[in-house]
Amino acid sequence: MKTTEVIADLKRRFPNEPEYHQAVEEVLSSIEDVYNSHPEFERYNLIERLCIPDRIFAFRVSWVDDSGKVRNNMGYRIQHNNAIGPYKGGIRFHASVNLSILKFLAFEQTFKNSLTTLAMGGAKGGSDFSPRGKSNMEIMRFCQAFVAELWRQLGPDTDVPAGDIGVGAREVGYMYGYYKKMAREFTGTFTGKGISFGGSLIRPEATGYGNCYFLLNMLATRGIDIKGKRVAISGSGNVATYTAQKIMELGAKVVSMSDSSGCIIAPDGLTKEQFDFIFELKTIMRGRLSEVPDVFPDIQYHDGQRPWKFVKCDIAMPSATQNELDGSDADALLAAGCFAVSEGANMPSTPEAVHKFIEARILYAPGKAANAGGVATSGLEMAQNSQKLSWSAEEVDRRLSEIMANIHAQCLRYGKEPDGYVNYVRGANVAGFMKVADAMMAQGIL
Ligand code: NDP
Repeated sequence: MKTTEVIADLKRRFPNEPEYHQAVEEVLSSIEDVYNSHPEFERYNLIERLCIPDRIFAFRVSWVDDSGKVRNNMGYRIQHNNAIGPYKGGIRFHASVNLSILKFLAFEQTFKNSLTTLAMGGAKGGSDFSPRGKSNMEIMRFCQAFVAELWRQLGPDTDVPAGDIGVGAREVGYMYGYYKKMAREFTGTFTGKGISFGGSLIRPEATGYGNCYFLLNMLATRGIDIKGKRVAISGSGNVATYTAQKIMELGAKVVSMSDSSGCIIAPDGLTKEQFDFIFELKTIMRGRLSEVPDVFPDIQYHDGQRPWKFVKCDIAMPSATQNELDGSDADALLAAGCFAVSEGANMPSTPEAVHKFIEARILYAPGKAANAGGVATSGLEMAQNSQKLSWSAEEVDRRLSEIMANIHAQCLRYGKEPDGYVNYVRGANVAGFMKVADAMMAQGIL
């Protein structure tokens, strides 16, 4: 089957899964010529086996809220592919979670994990449970009920979950605690754990820092210095805040951030005092960005808006959620002189936006390459857990920076076009695909 036929067939068999179709289409369209030059892949129907998850667990999660009312949510785990290592990928708790979103994330994760050069397969999981407004005890009871269903499918050499939207250190702690109780073993199994029970230094920072390291590699290909550049960031969660922290440390200016209610614009760049306030507001107080202008009147707030049309920036780092930057946002960024986009979130730019960036020949890094530092450092956490050792922050940061440089080098190897332009989408997809495809071919039809 040709790749176009595979896509049409998946759409027919799995209707109403637009995010999954979008992710598959993006990857398959960029690897088509590589795939077609290996007739043995077609004989083994490799592409279809790579697109359809190995297995999917779906289950009801019942828990009791603080008023004594019984609540029901759906829980899922997609074990997408374990050709090169145990299933690995985060857990997302957000009201919007459904099978399509988790299937797209698990599919992307498989290629991303392959790019890290570490031995990790691809997975993703989550629930339509929203932690916003829930008490600590409600979060704990929900996490325990979620793991009560899932723990049998997990293990340090089987499937190793981590955090994602709505799942940070607190939720990972509760889930790992319950897993440990059920499995009666202390083997890691979740990454993003607290430092006192097997977590890795730099893991919380890793996705944001890693994206900045990737950006530095991209800028170096054009001899651009990041100092003084204006950087628009979206989101204000784990990825966005550590991206902003590193960007400021590198001497550039953070001119925007956002949450699901709106965005803030700091035309002259956030000061350290303003950033520290936002960090505490979002990560400790669990507040809203709409509160920021009350304290810092020179910062503008735009209710219900994304930042892209309000900022003049050199670099954009979308770090909130999928499809948060569309074609008209891309037009606005390009018109304002933006010359680099490095994605912290998974699939934040729509296909139309990606097309415009590549057509304009700007530096554009897809999430599966630019945000792979998070899962790479999760891989380093797994390695430390296996050794029963903890590495220093400097050691982990050095390895993270090396891994990001390595991912960048793979993108250059497979993504350079005849005119010298580096198509990072193609580079990342082909590099990620080739390793998984080789492993699947060697292991027979499973
Ligand atoms: P968090 O939950 O910590 O933060 C998510 C941020 O995005 C919050 O500011 C949230 O706003 C905002 N947001 C969530 N949903 C929407 C929406 N529908 N529209 C607008 N804004 C939204 O998640 P992370 O920072 O961990 O994840 C962000 C992205 O990065 C995701 O795409 C995730 O898959 C990806 N990623 C994360 C990794 C990690 O290590 N954590 C690794 C690799 C990728 P609010 O505060 O209002 O909820």
